[in-house]
Amino acid sequence: MLELKGIHSGYDSTTILHDVSLTVNEGEVVTIVGANGAGKTTTLRTISGLIKPSQGSIHFDGQDITKLSSHEVVELGITLIPEGRQLFPDMTVRENLMMGAYRKGARASQSQLMDEVLALFPRVAERLEQKANSLSGGEQQMVAIARGLMSKPRLLMFDEPSLGLAPIIVSQVFEVIDSIVKTGATVLIVEQNVFHTLKAADRGYVLENGEIVLTDDADALLENPHVRKAYLGI
Ligand code: ATP
Repeated sequence: MLELKGIHSGYDSTTILHDVSLTVNEGEVVTIVGANGAGKTTTLRTISGLIKPSQGSIHFDGQDITKLSSHEVVELGITLIPEGRQLFPDMTVRENLMMGAYRKGARASQSQLMDEVLALFPRVAERLEQKANSLSGGEQQMVAIARGLMSKPRLLMFDEPSLGLAPIIVSQVFEVIDSIVKTGATVLIVEQNVFHTLKAADRGYVLENGEIVLTDDADALLENPHVRKAYLGI
């Protein structure tokens, strides 16, 4: 479904990603794990069209999307749930959710979509009229995920969904991701929380200093000596 081939990408004169190639197949949950600053966010921003790669190609369903704008990428059904949630703080939860439904494919069926999405997030459903900035961090992350679903994505990308959340909330976030996966969604997650993510994923890539150093089934990565030592502290 998604294929990155030989991607070099970064900011101004700094190249962050070096020759990154990866695939995500339809219905799969794929994760990119790596330490702080490894280039995980840069990878997602490049796929989203927010940064243009200097070399390499990105294909989605066989279509070359390397040079598309971020708006065009969203229209194709690729949605990024950004790090740090980035909700509209002074808008209500309901208004934030509606902002997610701007994609053409989603606009027509907004109220039905809202019902479907809220069924996954009972706590969000109870807080529709509350301002986003009055929610707890965990609730805000749930709203950010719900807003992403409101675009009816074909590929949903999560940037560090567990960042800054208490362990019990992290488990809840991964439970929600699990239930999204069960609906048949295709998911790409980048995370520093390697254990939880590999438990949730089918396959994974390990990114170090902007390069993919390892890729395997998630189960195999959990047993991999380098992953255990460098990321799981075992
Ligand atoms: P984190 O978990 O800390 O978000 P990450 O793996 O997602 O890490 P990136 O955010 O992709 O890493 O950052 C990779 C490198 O790119 C870092 O060295 C960072 O300083 C640099 N970088 C990120 N954003 C910019 C920017 N706007 N301009 C210049 N350099 C940047």
